[in-house]
Amino acid sequence: MILYSTKNKKHKVSLKEAVLKGLPPDNGLYMPEHIPQLSDSFLRSLEHHSFQEIAFEVSKTLIGNYIPEKDLKRIIENSITFPAPVVNLDEQKKVLELFHGPSLAFKDFGARFMAQLMSYFNQGEEKELVILVATSGDTGGAVAAGFYKTAGVKVVILYPSGKVSMLQEKQLTTLGENIEAVEINGTFDDCQALVKQSFLDSDLNKSIRLSSANSINIARLIPQSFYYFEAFKQIKGAKDNVVFCIPSGNFGNLTAGLFAKRMGLPIHHFIAATNANDVVPEYLFSGKYQPRPSVRTISNAMDVGNPSNFARMMDLYGSTWNSIKNEISGYFFYDNETREGVKEVFQKYNYTIDPHGAVGYLALKEYQREHPNTKGVILETAHPSKFIDDMEDILQSKIEIPKRLEILKSRKKHSTKMENNYSSFKDWLLKKY
Ligand SMILES: *Cc1c(COP(=O)(O)O)cnc(C)c1O
Repeated sequence: MILYSTKNKKHKVSLKEAVLKGLPPDNGLYMPEHIPQLSDSFLRSLEHHSFQEIAFEVSKTLIGNYIPEKDLKRIIENSITFPAPVVNLDEQKKVLELFHGPSLAFKDFGARFMAQLMSYFNQGEEKELVILVATSGDTGGAVAAGFYKTAGVKVVILYPSGKVSMLQEKQLTTLGENIEAVEINGTFDDCQALVKQSFLDSDLNKSIRLSSANSINIARLIPQSFYYFEAFKQIKGAKDNVVFCIPSGNFGNLTAGLFAKRMGLPIHHFIAATNANDVVPEYLFSGKYQPRPSVRTISNAMDVGNPSNFARMMDLYGSTWNSIKNEISGYFFYDNETREGVKEVFQKYNYTIDPHGAVGYLALKEYQREHPNTKGVILETAHPSKFIDDMEDILQSKIEIPKRLEILKSRKKHSTKMENNYSSFKDWLLKKY
């Protein structure tokens, strides 16, 4: 598998380099040079394959012989370890639950697959790989769980002391083994600045093999295409009118859906659903892309004002507005509408949908007003208990926290406290690794 940079198609690298580096030096994004088609016979027989078998076939087609089959099989077996079930709201509206992993959000798929690939590519290296991540709460949990006990890889997670929720903190600090949590007396931006400075420090990079678990790493995108096939498989009856509705922030999920379609999955249409951070719906409507600072909403994992994967979407469509808007429709909703959406799904379907999924529900409803003969699948990107305060406030009832999270409450926190000071962080790293 060869990838190029969206900023310079002549800059080509192997999958190994793209995964270990994360970002090209020109600040573009890595894109597969070629997106191959799956065989017709496989696409027609999805029903006969397990989720892992589908993931294997899709990744084998995309990655090619670059990773031997038996290794790829193991990577899949270690990363696709929880299901992605489709739940019917009614005949026309379905929910694809992507929250059955350890951190209760779809990011678990990407984090686990990336961990496995990094570990694979690091084999044979003398030195272990040290992943640095700054988190404001959520990404860190998925990365910690994803890399837990991964051979040859250590993870250092920096988080702002006192600024993440109790359960988020427990997700970062209770695993142990190869996961270290560093609690910085500062803000998320301070944590991020410490990570950035470490990558730029050539002296430090001589002693330690550093890498990042950046959200735009291609290794996080690849596994997100698997569940489009897995969802498609679970739809009953006619499948010539299946639309996917994707609550979006950085548009990684949507881009992965476009990959699935390019690989041959007959997806009829995509719906890009956002909160008030509506730069992509606005682009789809007007042809003008105007990034701006993000605004805070209750679907906060989608509070993005300049989506990083927009460059990948443009690359796929050769930057032509006409072809992109033929395949993707955009809608956006404000928080008061999102709250009504959560309530409506509960009252009408007795289903508890989180604020991100609710934005998707509203967008699908809007789309189906004009396209009634479609079957819509909403990506439910997180478990409602992740947003327990807002959810309980909206529904005026208790939200249950899944056992796998609840159990963390009694675990003991282990972290290293540190001032916001680069030289102490560097010294600590050098002593430790
Ligand atoms: C990250 C996230 C999103 C946004 O996904 P993108 O791929 O960045 O568009 C949506 N919902 C939840 C719950 C998330 O954590």
